[in-house]
Amino acid sequence: MLADYHTHCLPWSPDAEAPMRDMAKAALERGITHLCFTNHIENCCQSPLYPDQFPPFHDYGALYAEFQRVRDEFAGRMDVRLGCEIGSPTYLEAEGRAVYAQSVFDFAIGSIHNLRGKRDFYFYQYPDDFSLLKPEIEEYLDENIALASSGMCDVLGHLGYMRRYMARQGKCFSLTAFRDRLEVLFRACVEHGVGIELNCSGLTDALGGFIPEPEVLKLYRRLGGELITCGTDAHAPARAGVGIACAQALLKECGFSYVCLYQAHKPEFIRL
Ligand SMILES: [Zn+2]
Ligand SMILES: [Zn+2]
Repeated sequence: MLADYHTHCLPWSPDAEAPMRDMAKAALERGITHLCFTNHIENCCQSPLYPDQFPPFHDYGALYAEFQRVRDEFAGRMDVRLGCEIGSPTYLEAEGRAVYAQSVFDFAIGSIHNLRGKRDFYFYQYPDDFSLLKPEIEEYLDENIALASSGMCDVLGHLGYMRRYMARQGKCFSLTAFRDRLEVLFRACVEHGVGIELNCSGLTDALGGFIPEPEVLKLYRRLGGELITCGTDAHAPARAGVGIACAQALLKECGFSYVCLYQAHKPEFIRL
């Protein structure tokens, strides 16, 4: 059993490189048994403050129709589900709740890609002096604490997202430097039934590792965290399914007994 619960496709994610069927085919060829499409919905970051965001998404009917075709084509070979990756739902709460309530989605990743009124961490020029970035990482974790308590997502996406882009600029840090805040965050996750994801995207990037790092997974587990998904965050067939077997092995090493699938926003626990 190999579950990739974070993937993107054209035309629903503008930064993807291939349509849903091609992504599903590539995932199946890599041995994925459970696949979930989680395209970007950036409806909560639509203002002049966020000039780089993708346009708002409203075409749920067309997305679901394509999903049904792909799901049915792969039925019996791979379980395909539809989810979404909502960007900062807490920044525009009514819209965040409306997206989360869309009945077409079985699963929702909540992702903080940018601080309020700021650009995506993708666009940052990272300072050599880490102390200059520290307040923004603290703010980022505080936003995740608010998100975990909001009821607007099932798991928190790629905790420590900016590590992927810092590594491209030859810089790094560990989230474990923020242990107090992480403890508050993970206690909020456990209290509200919100999980985290183990994101594989850094494996094939300059980072060369998982997001979040194993020490963070262990802390989450020690604090009672059980809800966890694995995802490649693949935007192209070449990365669909890549690293999921390693991710599931790492979960076991970090003390997890199960990985989660989701149906109607309810977790299903699959033994590792
Ligand atoms: Zn993301
Ligand atoms: Zn993503």
